[in-house]
Amino acid sequence: MKRFMTLCLIALLALATLAAGCGGGKKDDNASQKTEKVLRIGTNADFAPFEFQDVNGKEYQGFDMDLIRAVAKEMGYKAEIQNINFDGLIPALEADNLDVIISGMTINDERKKKVDFSDPYYKSGLSIIVKKDDKSINKFSDLKGKKVAVQIGTTSAMEVKKIEGAEVKEFNSSADTFLELKAGGVDAVVNDRPVNDYYILKSGVTDVRRLEELLTSEDYGIASSKKKPEMKKQLDAALKKLHDNGEYDKIFKKWFGNG
Ligand code: GLN
Repeated sequence: MKRFMTLCLIALLALATLAAGCGGGKKDDNASQKTEKVLRIGTNADFAPFEFQDVNGKEYQGFDMDLIRAVAKEMGYKAEIQNINFDGLIPALEADNLDVIISGMTINDERKKKVDFSDPYYKSGLSIIVKKDDKSINKFSDLKGKKVAVQIGTTSAMEVKKIEGAEVKEFNSSADTFLELKAGGVDAVVNDRPVNDYYILKSGVTDVRRLEELLTSEDYGIASSKKKPEMKKQLDAALKKLHDNGEYDKIFKKWFGNG
């Protein structure tokens, strides 16, 4: 009898352990279901007013940053932003290290071969800034024979290379192109107009001027992987929602006023 009781006890203990084990497993499942999905966002945070870091270098700010946070929220994701060189963004997406890119990135045919783009979310174009006292440059064709700073891998780099006789100097960031103009290493900077304008407005420089002429008309889009076409659909749906509910306009006004 004693032996029978012992056996029963062992059996009971075994059952209890099994039950506890099962319960534990369930708990884990619930926890992972509750964990928010993360949207891995790539940007080159040196392109104010679209993406830049605050003075402490922690918080990502700008029109794109506010927009992608709102888009991620709409899609049910937690936004996780990574700062990468502009020319490294598409390779990082192709290597599946990112889910999306938002970086003032112009939609063009060359990039469309590699990534999907959302519907356009901002209309931009290229402009020139020069030193105030340099009266020899007043339009794009005047760049012939001049030294021009551009950012590597950008539409500025592509377009200025087409101007015959212009000497193109490529830099990692738009901030570096502005520094080069200041230092006198180049005669002009070509960059997206809102970024040139923001630089003139915010940096306190007084010895540069912007030219009115726009070389191109470009649309920015949010890039995602061609292997995940459902991501583009979700991005477009979220953008549409933000246009419909007024959130897009709010973010636009915050960074660009009514213009
Ligand atoms: N709009 C330009 C491009 O897509 C520049 C973008 C950037 O420098 N962040 O090439």
